[in-house]
Amino acid sequence: MKKEEYKSLSATAEVTLAHVFKAAARIKPLVAKTPLMPATPLAKSCGAWEVFLKLESLQKTGSFKVRGAANKILSLSQEEKDRGVITFSTGNHGRAVAYIASKLQVKATVCLSQRVPAYRAELVRSLGGHVEVKGRSQDEAEKHYYQVMEEKNMVPVAPFDDTDIIAGQGTIGLEMLKENPGLDILLVPLSGGGLLAGVAVAAKAINPDIKVVGISIENSPAMLESLKVGKPVEVEEKDSLADSLLGGIGQKNHYTLPLIRDLVDEHVLVSEEEIAAGMFYALSNHSLVVEGGAAVGIAALLRGKIDCYNKSVGVVVSGSSVDMTRYLETMNRQLAK
Ligand SMILES: *Cc1c(COP(=O)(O)O)cnc(C)c1O
Repeated sequence: MKKEEYKSLSATAEVTLAHVFKAAARIKPLVAKTPLMPATPLAKSCGAWEVFLKLESLQKTGSFKVRGAANKILSLSQEEKDRGVITFSTGNHGRAVAYIASKLQVKATVCLSQRVPAYRAELVRSLGGHVEVKGRSQDEAEKHYYQVMEEKNMVPVAPFDDTDIIAGQGTIGLEMLKENPGLDILLVPLSGGGLLAGVAVAAKAINPDIKVVGISIENSPAMLESLKVGKPVEVEEKDSLADSLLGGIGQKNHYTLPLIRDLVDEHVLVSEEEIAAGMFYALSNHSLVVEGGAAVGIAALLRGKIDCYNKSVGVVVSGSSVDMTRYLETMNRQLAK
């Protein structure tokens, strides 16, 4: 195929089921196969035939982000690996990149601002990553990131808008449908959209009738706002229990916006109170600690926001990194109700 032709194809042609299968084979030695656990009380409460939770909260480094990071770093040439990788995520992506890079003996640098709590920097260091603390805001840390990337000629590992990252996250959809081909509806947390786009690519290719639903948070629905106007928009960012879902989709978004536009059937928003209830459901019914961003699918079901009568529902529970103080406060408040 000529280069011009390729460019004119839609994003749905750039990440396919074949990419996801390739990613699954590639990352297998580095990631855990997580359980698909039945959630009977949840199915009862929302009238579904059955509900299954895909527990990426039990994934290595505490979130699904290792899948994309592993697929990306494994896809680099030896020359690129020798140059080392760089990112500026404060959260799960930074941890995943540091972990995978150290496993593959690739140097990883994570740029953080001075405002990021010291324990987060420590987490990255403990996983073998090199931390550069610079600037008083995330924007300043990002500037520093570009500077270091150029100076040291390092390879960027983007958090979501990258075909290898998307294909890596898509392996979750593959695993879910392999284990339970009868799933009718998939609920997937949505922020930058790497997770949702990847899962949608895999699931829709395997079963075009499956319904894929993205769950965004009221406090930062960047993808939803962008879909409305057909291009990336910045949203005012408020604090959230689901801190992993904060942030924009990137002003130069190439892949996740068109993929989600073309493949996702429905979008749902959840509030802070609903997220807290979702986290509490996981703890009280299944003894599972899940972070706010991972509880949004459960939250939507509990609130009756998904039309799931007699359906088989799969919910991606995406991670478990919580700030312990805030987590316990939130759970105590729910318990008091
Ligand atoms: C990153 C992340 C998400 C959102 O993934 P995107 O690809 O940015 O949409 C959801 N949950 C957790 C726990 C995450 O770390």
